[in-house]
Amino acid sequence: MTQPRSDEHPSNKTKTAKALASKLASLEAEARWQDRAACKGMDPTIFFGPEHTEVVKEKRDREEAAKAVCRTCPVNQECLEHALESKEAYGIWGGLTELERKALLRRRASSNVVLASAPRPAK
Ligand code: SF4
Repeated sequence: MTQPRSDEHPSNKTKTAKALASKLASLEAEARWQDRAACKGMDPTIFFGPEHTEVVKEKRDREEAAKAVCRTCPVNQECLEHALESKEAYGIWGGLTELERKALLRRRASSNVVLASAPRPAK
């Protein structure tokens, strides 16, 4: 009697199906928050800037307009976390500029260092 190949074993098919279902669920979740974005269908120039160089006031006004949209956005947190995780280098995401996101990442990193070095309570 021949044994089934290991890649044909039913448990492997179950693992593959679970992995695919998990990947599909995460893709659907990602698509869902973007579908609910307040900026959906808007001119992306507001969030990423024009192709020409902006003067300081023009940039500040554009970023404030984008942030005003973000303040009304129901998926602000999902957007911000996506930008932080994927290290989005440009534009307004979750109501923060690239420099503000970098500062937030530094604060999070330093608070993790503080938490990691904090003394543990005695048992
Ligand atoms: S938080 Fe701002 S950039 Fe992000 S999806 Fe909402 S409106 Fe768009």
